[in-house]
Amino acid sequence: MSQITFTIDLEDPTARYAPDGRHIAMTRRILDLCDEMRCRATFFVVGKLAQSAPKLIQDIAARGHEIAYHSHAHVPLTQENPARFREQTHADKHGLEQLIGKPVVGYRAPMFSLTPRSLWTVAILAELGFRYSSSVMPTRLSRFGFPNAPTVPFEWPNGMIEFPLPVATLHKNLRVPYLGGIYLYALPGVLTHRWLRQAKPEEVLWTYTHPYDFDSAEPYKPMPNTARGISMALWLARQVAEQKIRDVLKEQLTAPPLNERLTGHQLTRIDLGKSL
Ligand SMILES: [Zn+2]
Repeated sequence: MSQITFTIDLEDPTARYAPDGRHIAMTRRILDLCDEMRCRATFFVVGKLAQSAPKLIQDIAARGHEIAYHSHAHVPLTQENPARFREQTHADKHGLEQLIGKPVVGYRAPMFSLTPRSLWTVAILAELGFRYSSSVMPTRLSRFGFPNAPTVPFEWPNGMIEFPLPVATLHKNLRVPYLGGIYLYALPGVLTHRWLRQAKPEEVLWTYTHPYDFDSAEPYKPMPNTARGISMALWLARQVAEQKIRDVLKEQLTAPPLNERLTGHQLTRIDLGKSL
């Protein structure tokens, strides 16, 4: 069975980035879970969060995990301005590298918003030194979907690698994400595990979670940029999130962080001229 990488999107949905916010305590809980499960993970960090909690970022790196980048302030790429995106991404990447003393080579778009409408970001990311992205949802089920993108790792025309969100292909027009977020929390475990067993060997599997998913005691607040129903479902899912993540990590052998999985793939270079 394929191995799976644990990834965490480190953000504060209150957008306050208080240095003693609840997201900090929850991140520390996730770090302890990683130790318990003996897994080294990839933490995709929002730039504002790194600025407000530099010690936390250094601790994550010191515990053997990869630090990657998850935008400056969690604005979806479809709402970004190219000049501002380049400037903030460049400054934040440099800041993270200063903080941890290592190159930062991984990028994940907020809400997986790398879609056919935001392809301009690919050139900027490669130019700034990112070697891989993990930002594409190859499904029609999300408003940020990239329905015809490959479901296995692929290369952008400039050589940057993409690790798409793992999906189960039920029909040529029906691909269902199942290893993270609301999909993982809402689907019955038996389905998740069946689809995991059916994954193709050439897929790079990863699961994703957020510090707030672990915060089952926090009162309800609507999430930014999220429909009200999804926001409520995500809050209810907090009751089961940690257990679901534990089940997935327990069943699979965990793989190393994504920056250690860049080689050994038969990569197809995608042609952006073709309709995607
Ligand atoms: Zn995010």
